[in-house]
Amino acid sequence: MAGGQGKKGEGMVPLALLLKRELSSERVERPDVLHGQASQARKGEDFTLVKVDCQRVPGDGLSTFSVFAIFDGHNGSAAAIYSKENLLNNILCAIPSNLSRDEWLAALPRAMVAGFVKTDKDFIDKAHFSGTTVTFVIIDGWVVTVASVGDSRCILESAEGSVYFLSADHRLEANNEEVERVIASGGQVGRLNSIGGVEIGPLRCWPGGLCLSRSIGDLDVGEFIVPIPHVKQVKLSNAGGRLIISSDGVWDALTAEMAINCSRGLPADAAASQIVKEAVHGRGLRDDTTCIVVDVLPPEKLTPSVPAPRKQGMGIFKFMFQRKTCESSSHSDRELSEADLVEEIFEDGSAKLAQRLSTNYPLHNMFKLIICAICQVTMRPGEGISVNSTSSKHRRLRPWDGPLLCKSCQVKREAMEGKKHSRDSVSRHNGENK
Ligand SMILES: [Zn+2]
Repeated sequence: MAGGQGKKGEGMVPLALLLKRELSSERVERPDVLHGQASQARKGEDFTLVKVDCQRVPGDGLSTFSVFAIFDGHNGSAAAIYSKENLLNNILCAIPSNLSRDEWLAALPRAMVAGFVKTDKDFIDKAHFSGTTVTFVIIDGWVVTVASVGDSRCILESAEGSVYFLSADHRLEANNEEVERVIASGGQVGRLNSIGGVEIGPLRCWPGGLCLSRSIGDLDVGEFIVPIPHVKQVKLSNAGGRLIISSDGVWDALTAEMAINCSRGLPADAAASQIVKEAVHGRGLRDDTTCIVVDVLPPEKLTPSVPAPRKQGMGIFKFMFQRKTCESSSHSDRELSEADLVEEIFEDGSAKLAQRLSTNYPLHNMFKLIICAICQVTMRPGEGISVNSTSSKHRRLRPWDGPLLCKSCQVKREAMEGKKHSRDSVSRHNGENK
């Protein structure tokens, strides 16, 4: 830890705290996580998941983590309910056992990709037609990991007053990269035509006419509408921060700044109610409007139940999924980043499984040769197909060809990349899945 005290931005942390952190490695100073939620329903297709007592190591009270998620369903609520009930388990099953905390956190982004794809695949095999957005947040100590498909957003205001977007916006209207991906995978993107040929409404993709480029479910749209989540992992400073997770009912009415400002200084439950009230007040109850507010607080701040008043006025907005342009090296940016103690650990939004399940990281054992990296099914020797292969033809595999997919997950992967269609033959695949 040479030069630890001279590190940028760490001068503000008392030495005693630094020592404590190094000696006990998070055990002593885990944050308090307080939450509240509020919702006004119009169609009844928004669902939330809140679990504050999960354990990385079953039975070890020091290994707890919390889960907060919003599922905004469309064309019915079956996909949202199915995801609420199965997604967490599918993510956790994709993490090998016996990992240290650091290894567990490093494995999480890939496990989220596997869990989202498995949940989508299992749901679609049941031949339901609804779909859902998912914004899925796991908080372990000061580390926040967010996986998202669709347009339910998660924003973070750090205690230092900076605002971060922790989810991606997979609305075709707002995401050119996704429009290009959908077209390259064989989809068509356009607006509805009214009589007279005038284009109306938001950009949609066809077949299906969905405004989103990623979701779980949606059997009736093209398979280029993928369930592969954008994942972002950050570590808060030990001054903490506030997360606001909301469905588009909130974000169509309020900017991030408005949501933060209208609830400033309120405890989490009152803040969530205030944000929903403000969103509905602005434009009426046009859509299901749901909000979860999570305060990650230093333990000593717990006594006054209201978070310390934050800096008034506008926060510093950081659009982190445009980080290439935001993290420029201009003088003012450097000053901001020194004041800002939120560390970015991981971010990837690619729709390519080969990239998302890549083994280029120091985690042995994550992908065993005999287990499918997506659905975790055990395969017979020689049965798996490398996620890096370009055809599903069997060939002799070498240990470094992994991660491997089972035949059915390989069919899913190729369909998502526009190479062939699997949904024409859902029932046939059901038959193959023993
Ligand atoms: Zn599989």
